[in-house]
Amino acid sequence: NFFSPSVDYKMQMVIIGDRHVGKTCFLERYTDHRFQQESKSTVGIDFRMKTVTVAGQRVRLQIWDTAGQERFNSITTAYYRNARGIILIYDVTNPETYLNISKWLDLVHEYARNDAEVAIVGNKADLPDVQVNPLKARNFAEKWGYLFYETSAKESLNVETVFVNLVYKILKQI
Ligand code: GDP
Ligand code: MG
Repeated sequence: NFFSPSVDYKMQMVIIGDRHVGKTCFLERYTDHRFQQESKSTVGIDFRMKTVTVAGQRVRLQIWDTAGQERFNSITTAYYRNARGIILIYDVTNPETYLNISKWLDLVHEYARNDAEVAIVGNKADLPDVQVNPLKARNFAEKWGYLFYETSAKESLNVETVFVNLVYKILKQI
């Protein structure tokens, strides 16, 4: 189509993490600028598209939203292979979802590309009962060369920032 603007790059990303941490809300906030309180649990896999301009480059993102339950892992890990960016989300009010990061990273190391860029994201930062120390989480992420942000899909805090900085980091490698 003559009117469809061309893009400089196309990239796939995948959002992973335990169930209920807010993966679907996080993606919906980014692509649709909205937050729906009542959650519809993701079955298997789903995706949304978004075009962003970062460092003067137009980038078409295909972002895969996965189901957190282990029984879907055989489906979802198939999408890791083509992902340039991996967004691993935990819930700042639920320490178990933070401890499970290491399980998710095991899957990343097994199935993703070696040059995939990872962002660790502590979501639901709008809630008062934060249970995961953000300094510890940041230190952990930085030790491994991952990006780290606390976000709120509900209040639209840092959601864009995660994508922009991840795309920026990926573009630097290309
Ligand atoms: P998923 O299973 O990881 O995809 O999680 P969902 O996106 O379905 O969200 C699970 C629940 O957490 C829903 O009830 C959402 O309303 C809630 N939720 C998601 N993101 C946030 C957030 O940033 N803040 C708050 N307070 N609740 C959130
Ligand atoms: Mg979901």
